[in-house]
Amino acid sequence: MSNRKNELAERTQQVKEALAEAARAAGRKTEDVSLVAVSKLHPASDIRALAETGQVDFGENYVQEAVGKQEELADLDVRWHFIGGLQSNKAKFVAGNFALVHSVDSRKLANTLSNKALARDAVQDILLQVNIAGEEQKSGISVENLPELADAVMEMDGVRLRGLMTMPPFFDEPERARPVFARLRQLRDELEGQLGISLPHLSMGMTGDFVPAVEEGATLVRIGTRIFGARPPRA
Ligand SMILES: *Cc1c(COP(=O)(O)O)cnc(C)c1O
Repeated sequence: MSNRKNELAERTQQVKEALAEAARAAGRKTEDVSLVAVSKLHPASDIRALAETGQVDFGENYVQEAVGKQEELADLDVRWHFIGGLQSNKAKFVAGNFALVHSVDSRKLANTLSNKALARDAVQDILLQVNIAGEEQKSGISVENLPELADAVMEMDGVRLRGLMTMPPFFDEPERARPVFARLRQLRDELEGQLGISLPHLSMGMTGDFVPAVEEGATLVRIGTRIFGARPPRA
C-alpha cells in the first residue's frame, strides 16, 4: 500500500472505532451508522485510494468538482452524496447522479431536482437540511417552515424524502451541539407522524462533533478533516 493509502485507511479505521464506541455507549447498533467520507477539495486520487480499502460513501460539496471526480472515478463502485449548498440552476448536474442529496432547503430546489430527475427516469433521494439554530449565514430551512416544505416535497414525483440533515453552529465544545442533534431527531419523529412515512436518515455530525451526534441518533455522519487532513483552500 502507498503511504497515503495506508494513512487514509488508518485514519478511517480510527474514525470507525470511535463511531462504534459512540453507538455502543448509546445502545445503538454500529451498522446503523454509516460514515460518509467528505472528500471536498481533496484529490480524486485520495478517493480512489480510500475506496480501494473498502470505503463506499463519499460526500462532495461543489458541483463542478464533484462531477469532475465522478467522471474520473467512473470505474469505482462508490456511493456519492451531495452535501453542499446547491443553487437551483445547478440542480441539473446533481439530479440522478448522487445516491443522496443532503442539502435540500427550498421548494424551488426540490422541484427542480424532481423535474430533472424525472427527465432522466430517475427518482432522487433527498434529505431536508434544517437550520435549527436559526443562524443567518447558514443554509437550511427554518424549523418553522419545515412542515410546509415537507408537505410540498411529498407532492413531487421525482424526489423521495428520506430524512433530515443539520449543521450546528461551530462550538469549541462538542457537547454544546447535542441539543441541536436531539432536536433534529425530534423533528424527524414529528414529520414521520405528519407525513405517515418512515424517514430513516439523520445526517448529522462532523469531525468536531460526531460523538454526540451518534449518541443522539445519527445514521449518516459526514467526516472530512479527521480522515483526509486539513483541506487546501478553494481555488
Ligand atoms: C465540509 C463539510 C463536512 C466535513 O467537515 P469536517 O469538519 O472536515 O469533518 C461535513 N458536512 C458538510 C455539510 C460540510 O460542508
